[in-house]
Amino acid sequence: MSADPERILVIIPAAGSGTRFGGDVPKQFLPLGGKPLVQRVVERFLFDDKVTRIVVPVLDMLLSAVKTSPGDRVQFVAGGATRLQSVTRGLEAALDEIGDEINGEIDIVAIHDAVRPFFSLDTFHATLDAARTHGAAFPGIPLPDTVHQIADDAIASTLDRRVLVAAQTPQCFRVDVLRDILERAAAENADATDEAGLAAKYGHRVQLVTGDSMNFKITRPEDLVMAERIYAEWGGEGDA
Ligand code: C5P
Repeated sequence: MSADPERILVIIPAAGSGTRFGGDVPKQFLPLGGKPLVQRVVERFLFDDKVTRIVVPVLDMLLSAVKTSPGDRVQFVAGGATRLQSVTRGLEAALDEIGDEINGEIDIVAIHDAVRPFFSLDTFHATLDAARTHGAAFPGIPLPDTVHQIADDAIASTLDRRVLVAAQTPQCFRVDVLRDILERAAAENADATDEAGLAAKYGHRVQLVTGDSMNFKITRPEDLVMAERIYAEWGGEGDA
């Protein structure tokens, strides 16, 4: 274990009410190995002593259900109406709370999807390092399938797979870069599911880091079935 955390804030936006699975429970609260996905993700970050603090924007009505104690590295805050607003609230709340508590401000912010429980710490650390060097970075993986652009239910054109990657998280930003893109998006009333793409749109270099196919997003019932299998095989690694 290294001595000091590295002034890294992790934001895990979990304030959506989207139930793509068709049930009543938002997907980030579905159980994996008996605990909500978002809790699995939080525990995995807590396991990493590089991380100073974790902030989880959740729906207002859930705030009373989540308990933290003074000194906890995890903080829950009320999310906003959009994902980007949730990220903004998370950033502001965490920086307010941290204040003088640590010597110096957070310098890198990582944003991670609550429904990606199998991110690797190696990839996370490589992305952090790239963000320190370039301002912003994201893990991406090549697309295994050919991708077509469709019009009127037929192929209009075939994209060149060699210049495409699928974006994953944790996406990492120097705090000044993240503030800039959140401010600009708010001014334009824009939302995004991917902050890295937004940073690029606003002219920042967003460095690609090699991602990991295990770091998949749980969005369909079959993803959760696969996740349970993997979790069982890993023997509940990272359990707290
Ligand atoms: O609904 P969608 O899948 O696009 O949401 C992406 C992520 O952003 C989810 O983890 C969701 O919980 C989060 N989100 C949020 N605040 C919102 C909307 C979505 O934190 N207002």
